[in-house]
Amino acid sequence: MPSIRRQDYWIRQSNKQYSFESQYEIGKELGRGPASTVCKCSGHGLNQAWAVKILYKNRDKKVTTADVGLLLKLDDKNLIRLKEIFESKSRIYLVQELVTGGELFDRIVNVGAYTEVAAARAVNDIVSGLKYLHSWGIVHRNLKPENLLYENLSENSTLKIADFGLGMILSSEVDMSSVCGSPEYIAPEILKGERFGKPGDMWSLGVIVYILLCGYVPFSSDSPAELFKKILKGQYEFSSPHWDIIGENAKDLICKLLVVDPKARMTADAASKNCWVNLFAAKTDDLDNVVSRIKDFNAWRKEKCQMLPLASTPASRAGSRGITPFYDIHIAPSPQPPQEIEPQGSEMLQAAAEKLGDVTPLEGDEPQVDQA
Ligand code: ADP
Repeated sequence: MPSIRRQDYWIRQSNKQYSFESQYEIGKELGRGPASTVCKCSGHGLNQAWAVKILYKNRDKKVTTADVGLLLKLDDKNLIRLKEIFESKSRIYLVQELVTGGELFDRIVNVGAYTEVAAARAVNDIVSGLKYLHSWGIVHRNLKPENLLYENLSENSTLKIADFGLGMILSSEVDMSSVCGSPEYIAPEILKGERFGKPGDMWSLGVIVYILLCGYVPFSSDSPAELFKKILKGQYEFSSPHWDIIGENAKDLICKLLVVDPKARMTADAASKNCWVNLFAAKTDDLDNVVSRIKDFNAWRKEKCQMLPLASTPASRAGSRGITPFYDIHIAPSPQPPQEIEPQGSEMLQAAAEKLGDVTPLEGDEPQVDQA
């Protein structure tokens, strides 16, 4: 094993005998998040392909070694399976099931007909994955469209949740940097600085269901302070005409998920029994206008993600000292309602990215990825 000292390990269950490179051949890049790169990989001389998520350790030392034994044992059709973990001095390698069907919102904008039934099918898969996770006492903490991936390109492909339990591995640092990029999905209690529990995931689900049915976010403002105020009050609308076509059962589900009091919020178990989630009460009208708004939302979301720094941010460093209310964080405004969509590549996005700062991976340890 290469020269990594015991105190440099962050994860109790990481493979201490071999390095990632000695076991796997790395392939093309599949995607990037604010604090990670995902690449295809396969065991040396083997055909089976896997995905590896490479996380960059920041300079802050990890005080306690993470115990992620449970994450490695999870096995559910709606979760992307974690196979094994490797570490180097500056990186963590999470080898996981490779999925090939693309992100949820990419599929919606690329398929022909889109209806409440199609949305409910996706929500059913997410709820089923969350129910399983929550039954093991694991909270996702970062549920957002980027983490919802289809197993394959077939029409009936299963939707899977990625990145569960990342908070167990990385303390609150990465979560905080993601929050800077996607505060739209964060529950009011988290904004208040309370512990992230299962209801936090259900709030994020409520935001995703809302977007799925109208193509824009329930809470938005050009001013972060204003945005957080709206989230804290649970202040959103089913505005006309966009919501006129959407059925009462779908709205009822959202109303039960976007509840400010986490104790009164719908649980994953209750959601799994909901009539809309189970497709009985989902309408079959064509939602063409919603698809075109999701297209705009998707483009905005991807552009915003590209502008975020690769590693930790000033806000994330503050977060590493504990859970911090983040009223001071400056964020990119989200497009809502549709007539107020910011032009793509707006100066505000640029300013927000600059404000967050540009932090590079540890010296001499840049990712070696095949760009082919
Ligand atoms: P984020 O941190 O924003 O969730 P990730 O770093 O997890 O982003 O992933 C970036 C992108 O890599 C995803 O949006 C997806 O397109 C791709 N990806 C992630 N995990 C996998 C996987 N297991 N199989 C295939 N592609 C993946």
